Amino acid sequence: MARLFFLLSFLISNLLLASCAVNPVTGENEFSLLSRQDEISIGNEQYGPSQQSQGGEYKVDPDLSAYVNEVGQRLATEGRRDYDLPYEFVVLNNSVPNAWALPGGKIAVNRGLLLELNSEAELAAVLGHEVVHAAARHGAAAMTRGSLLQGVLTVGAIASQDSAYSDYIVGAGQLGAQLIGQRYGRDAERDSDTFGIQYMVQAGYDPQEAVSLQETFVRLSAGREAGWVDGLFASHPPSQERVENNQTLVNEMMPVLQGRDLEVGIARYQQAIASIKADQEAYQLFEEAERAVADDDLEIAMLNLDEAISMVPNEARFSGLKADILLYQGSYRGSIVIYNEAIEKDDSYFDYYLGRGVAYARTGNQVLAQTDLERSVDLLPTATAMNELGKISLNNNDRIVAKQYFQAAAGGAGQVASEASLAFTRLDIVDTPGSYVQAQTYTDGEGRIIARVTNRSGLVLQNIQLEFTAVIAEQLAERLINIGSLAINQTIDVNSDLRFPEGIEGSSNQMRVRVNSAQPQ
Ligand SMILES: [Zn+2]
Repeated sequence: MARLFFLLSFLISNLLLASCAVNPVTGENEFSLLSRQDEISIGNEQYGPSQQSQGGEYKVDPDLSAYVNEVGQRLATEGRRDYDLPYEFVVLNNSVPNAWALPGGKIAVNRGLLLELNSEAELAAVLGHEVVHAAARHGAAAMTRGSLLQGVLTVGAIASQDSAYSDYIVGAGQLGAQLIGQRYGRDAERDSDTFGIQYMVQAGYDPQEAVSLQETFVRLSAGREAGWVDGLFASHPPSQERVENNQTLVNEMMPVLQGRDLEVGIARYQQAIASIKADQEAYQLFEEAERAVADDDLEIAMLNLDEAISMVPNEARFSGLKADILLYQGSYRGSIVIYNEAIEKDDSYFDYYLGRGVAYARTGNQVLAQTDLERSVDLLPTATAMNELGKISLNNNDRIVAKQYFQAAAGGAGQVASEASLAFTRLDIVDTPGSYVQAQTYTDGEGRIIARVTNRSGLVLQNIQLEFTAVIAEQLAERLINIGSLAINQTIDVNSDLRFPEGIEGSSNQMRVRVNSAQPQ
């Protein structure tokens, strides 16, 4: 809810600045609520958490990331001629074939997609398409239309698709999850294909490879390989029509391109992806382990992970999942040892700090737990981390901070969020009992001041104190009345022992009742 409010207020505050603008790529007039600076800020803020929520950066072969960024920058140079953005490209450690662009030119491609491509020119086609999404301001248009708001309820599902345990993004990270999970629409996709092909030609690549890429997508989606449905195809539905449109476009370009030395780059590309290809079996074992965890077959999962680790010893994710399983089994000290190994291999993925923080908390080490959990929140704010930090703050008697953490965690979804919501309510009842216990005065037939009291907190309450104030015959009278306990939604009438004399009818501004205190049982 807080996020919705943020987005609405963000859009409304921009309404005054909104204007008709010319789309930098298509040249068409359009209405936009976001300035270029807004787009760059959103991209900068959301790039980190969006990467984290999609598996984090792929680190085993840094040369691969450097290579993808190098090809990406060639396309970005063309994009910048239309719209100057600080383009960045990363490879994500995710086997689902997918690629996405945030506003402001922040682009990511999954390890799983790179495995399906054959040449550098095909990679250029993917990256060119994403560069157009950013340069033609498709994310900004989606935010202006407000179509992202429809996605609010699906954020949890997007966020959790790469997590073995249900964990949910809360707060600031949610916008990025929506931006990368959304569909831009047919027109935007067609524009990205068309102008992406122009960018790749300008950058020196053979546009026929964009068509072969689309053919691969159609073939793979027909086979419905695992992962494809929720990956690239959710936002980029492949079709024979798309293949034909692109082929027509390429055919039209060909006469102009005769005699030009256009790159395909098969050998160069195959060399760049050689290590992820060689490691493919280890990642398959890892994914089998993830499925085994989901089926609660932890022994099989452990065997698969140990084998994967022996094949690719410097892949931190394999150790991370092993540590997650130990944590889940309650082997807290054992999990800390394995989380340490994961962090030694990759010190920038939220899950290891989150897991180790929880393990430290369970072993009573509040100080180290807090440090790790805060680190995990910096990388990706999750309901689990916020809930744990709330519990630690409560142990330290810092009720105000605890409430803030519980409230943040309650903004997620699932079991942890409802647990946090309850923890928040338990604290808040004590601070503002009047918001949870309804009390109203009336007088009975004999002039007695009565309060009708209802427990609206959703919890059984005890030690409820009512403070009655009344002006009776121009004298101020007060009474404190204690009620033992009230069940959920129970209503009772409480006699204040105050009474207007016969013949005088008390009006509502002559009597008040206030709920001084209430405590959850
Ligand atoms: Zn697209």
